[in-house]
Amino acid sequence: MQNQNHVGAKYEFCPACKSSSLKFDLNVNYWNEFPLAFDRCADCGATFANPMPTDQTIATGNEALVRLYELAKTPETEFREARQAYLRGKLLARKLMKWKYSGRALELGCYHGFYSLGIKDSSRWEVEGVEISKKLGTFVNEKLKIKCHIGTLEGLRLPDNSYDFIICHDLIEHINRPDVFIKEIFRILKPGGRIQIITPNAYQDLAPSRRLFDQGHTPHMLLNHIFYFTPDSLKTALEINGFKVVKQYSYYIQHVLKDFGWLGFGKVIAPKDASPSAFETLRQPMNADLNIWTDAKLEELKNHKKVGAFYGFYRETLPELFTVKVPPSLKIGHEIYALAQKI
Ligand SMILES: [Zn+2]
Repeated sequence: MQNQNHVGAKYEFCPACKSSSLKFDLNVNYWNEFPLAFDRCADCGATFANPMPTDQTIATGNEALVRLYELAKTPETEFREARQAYLRGKLLARKLMKWKYSGRALELGCYHGFYSLGIKDSSRWEVEGVEISKKLGTFVNEKLKIKCHIGTLEGLRLPDNSYDFIICHDLIEHINRPDVFIKEIFRILKPGGRIQIITPNAYQDLAPSRRLFDQGHTPHMLLNHIFYFTPDSLKTALEINGFKVVKQYSYYIQHVLKDFGWLGFGKVIAPKDASPSAFETLRQPMNADLNIWTDAKLEELKNHKKVGAFYGFYRETLPELFTVKVPPSLKIGHEIYALAQKI
């Protein structure tokens, strides 16, 4: 299935910094059905599918990815992931309350909603979510009683100047028009409102795929990433849309030698199998993992000893204090963290 119906028009300029210096970087397979070519911006380093996959392709890819996760899940792993998300939400709630005692937060791509639930249960903040999956969004609305807007941020047309804090973790790398997306976030934030973004760093996160490609292989883009920012390109994209970057760093440098192949580490190993098929994955029987969430199970989650303050301190807060955070100018780190304010 190698036709090109899965992609749209080609970008003539970089959606992050507006430069027209785009150069071919590598080919990847976005599932077996959708081959993509990535360009790199010579000015800011942003690396992205060009042309981008269509909204329909992205929807298919995302559904297939959710199904792939679900197929590997057991009730125990589902509970554990929810518990971890809930605890992280509680810890963010504390930080938020230090900044503002109360306000309105919006979590983009809220998935099962347990992170938002953690914020809601531990602060005076009101929390809403946005989720593209109807199944997940309905669960968040009905079971967790958190208002969840079902759809894409760009399609929902939420009201102007409405939110104090927007959470955008592991999401912007899946968007085919990140410039439009950032403008939309700016519009719905209140003046002085903030956006917190976590996204992979093009420098280190793409390094293994680049090395594979340079040695004649086509890497699988199984996490459905189509837009890789560098710290520079994220900062520029935020600033040209009216934000002031309050804090930014890169982190998760653990595998830096292996990823870049420095000092002889990290031998390139060709992928053994073809990329999985999105359509075949979607034909797998549905795993009813959300069914574990009875009212009793939700209570168990909220009262679990591993969502308490002590556990949170030594499993999350303490490791965070020791996480190596490198300045954006160093071209390493798997992830980028950015906190920006609407001015
Ligand atoms: Zn650029």
